Amino acid sequence: MNSKSVFELILSGEIESEVIYEDDDVFAINDINPVARVHILVIPKKKIATINNLNDSDVNLVGKMIMVAKQLAYELGIDNTGYRLLFNTNDDAMQTVFHIHLHLIGGQKLKDI
Ligand code: AMP
Repeated sequence: MNSKSVFELILSGEIESEVIYEDDDVFAINDINPVARVHILVIPKKKIATINNLNDSDVNLVGKMIMVAKQLAYELGIDNTGYRLLFNTNDDAMQTVFHIHLHLIGGQKLKDI
């Protein structure tokens, strides 16, 4: 996939979005269409289309995404009440942006999946 993903456009400033966390490898934004009071996307700066495209060299990157989500959950005070972390992959999961991103969802009682 050569065209820029919406997340790359956000990172380059071509699309406006408040970046709530950033380091050398990942960044985080509030989801534009939140499904709960807290709905954050943790996104690697490296564009990887789907979880299927991960390889062994991405292990630390994916681990870091989870650690950043954990830290944001703590900072938002939802670590003890609970939250959901999820990656949608391809059509059946309704993945819409083909640049992997970890959804951090919480801040309220969530429906069963
Ligand atoms: P997925 O369905 O897992 O691919 O999730 C893509 C997510 O990106 C959806 O929850 C969208 O609401 C979100 N999204 C799309 N465009 C933007 C944007 N410009 N800013 C923030 N979130 C976005």
